Amino acid sequence: MSIPFPAAPGTRIVRAAPDNTDLAKPPVKSLSGLLPFLRPYRGRIALAGLFLVLAAFATLAFPLALRSLIDGGLVASAAPGLTTPDRSAQVMALRGHFFALFSVAVALGIFSAGRFYMVSWLGERVTADLRNAVYAHVLRQSPEFFETTQTGEVLSRLTTDTTLVQTVVGSSLSMGLRNAVMGVGALAMLVWTNPWVMLQVAVVLVGVVLPSLWFGRRVRKLSRASQDRVADSSAIAAEVLNAIPVVQSYTAEGREAVRFDHATGQAFQTAVRRTRARAVLVAFIIIATSAALLWGLYQGTQAVMEGRMSAGHLGQTVVYVIILAGAFAVLGEVYGDLLRAAGATERLMELLHSPSSIVSPKNPAQPSGKRSGSAIEFEKITFHYPSRPGLAALTEFSLRIAPGETVALVGTSGAGKSTVFQLLLRYYDAQSGALRIDGNPVQALALDDLRQRIAIVPQDAVIFSTTALENIRYGRPDATDAEVKLAAAAAFAHEFISALPEGYGTFLGERGVRLSGGQRQRIAIARAMLKNAPLLLLDEATSALDAESERVVQAALEAVMEKHSGQRTTLVIAHRLATVQKADRIVVLEHGRIVEQGNHEALVAADGVYARLAALQFTT
Ligand code: ADP
Repeated sequence: MSIPFPAAPGTRIVRAAPDNTDLAKPPVKSLSGLLPFLRPYRGRIALAGLFLVLAAFATLAFPLALRSLIDGGLVASAAPGLTTPDRSAQVMALRGHFFALFSVAVALGIFSAGRFYMVSWLGERVTADLRNAVYAHVLRQSPEFFETTQTGEVLSRLTTDTTLVQTVVGSSLSMGLRNAVMGVGALAMLVWTNPWVMLQVAVVLVGVVLPSLWFGRRVRKLSRASQDRVADSSAIAAEVLNAIPVVQSYTAEGREAVRFDHATGQAFQTAVRRTRARAVLVAFIIIATSAALLWGLYQGTQAVMEGRMSAGHLGQTVVYVIILAGAFAVLGEVYGDLLRAAGATERLMELLHSPSSIVSPKNPAQPSGKRSGSAIEFEKITFHYPSRPGLAALTEFSLRIAPGETVALVGTSGAGKSTVFQLLLRYYDAQSGALRIDGNPVQALALDDLRQRIAIVPQDAVIFSTTALENIRYGRPDATDAEVKLAAAAAFAHEFISALPEGYGTFLGERGVRLSGGQRQRIAIARAMLKNAPLLLLDEATSALDAESERVVQAALEAVMEKHSGQRTTLVIAHRLATVQKADRIVVLEHGRIVEQGNHEALVAADGVYARLAALQFTT
């Protein structure tokens, strides 16, 4: 199953599914995408590697110390043949051996702690860097990206996928390396100390590893499936929580709870299947390795009894075999983690490398410094939205606006008014024609420069979950409190904000739920006022406001249009007579074309599209 994703040319993000075949891709190759994120921390990685090797050596020294304790300290002194064992010498020898063992333990403790700290630090750091990089990249994507990508999907990648990467970098990888070093070390020690065990060990390992790999594959598929099911239930919850007033108005709480219950039930079922497979795997590994170990131990005891081997040698061998078997078990698990993280890394890298269709030019033109309104020139612009190639939103659209002019865009819904704004902000590039601001094509300006020169009051005011003060200051982060209050006053927002429980310090709640529609609008107007850009884009909200709020918002808009009029270019999508009467010029759109231009009186007299619209549409 694949869901169409940010459709930048040649890019396609495929959501992982339980039976996805990207399992075939070698995990190492996918994980190499992480290299750029690891590179800055080379020093720390080297240090972590050093601790890792030292800890592994300390572990491997343990059996050696154990052997000398048993053979040298314990058994030898009580060996037959010595008629009068010297008790005090024996005790001293034992102490020495215990001290050696303890030293090994201390070294092991210190090196392990060092490795753990360094590696966990790396995991956290790399994950944070990765998250930041992906987030910063997504923030710069064009609207086209967000038309095809669900925010929930991006959020899930930012959290769950990066967490998987963290597991690997912050623990699995070091566990894998440590166990690889220890496994190889134990193997080498075994070859060195008793080559005859080697053959048996090799046979046992193959017998355990092969079925485990096969089982691990199954476990892996099932864990992926269960992750997907969890994601499904999260998606349901996210959607419903965002629409809670509608859900409650239709008294659908019960239905929604059942739907969620169903989704979590599915997640549970899949998790149980995965756990069952994993449980069988664990049982198999433990029983198989124990059987092999006990068989080896049995043979060893025979050898000791027959005098072919010392007790210490046997003890040492057993410990090495345990280390080796443990290392293999861990490596199996790490392998599974690597595969999972490889998939997650792939998904993150796709997101990180998906190009935006709108980018800043390499050598941007320098916009002129004058701020007394922008000159705008649309020249034969023809544009269709990427998702609707068959339908032009603007056709051969030509319009010149002088600095300081106020122009009202009028037309039925779908005529292309908002599209004009979208192109000015360069959310999209037109397929043909040219759009110039102050003589510079918009594509020649740095995106930041372009958008810095435009202030917009959108139809749906957006409120961030912070204070009223900060919400307005969003328009110009370096504005003083006094400037914020001035802008609020200009937008007729000062009075109601002052009346809030904590005035400008009042927290407005997520998405501004604590404000009325008209109040949200006025905050948005104040924000745009504060930005004080040479080009002002206003989208008059008509719906969603009651008569009283509408009156205040209208007054605020009019005040804003009048303020600095002549020094600022204003483009307004107008729905009200009062607004169009304030404009220097009215431009009438129909099906993406300009059909009429002029002032109100002239257009009414012409008795064309505008006169009809005015009679039907304008609220006074
Ligand atoms: P208006 O603002 O005058 O109501 P728009 O500029 O929003 O009209 O829309 C012009 C045309 O473009 C309409 O046919 C509309 O359906 C279409 N349109 C608007 N936005 C998009 C989009 N993001 N993707 C595809 N088509 C769109």
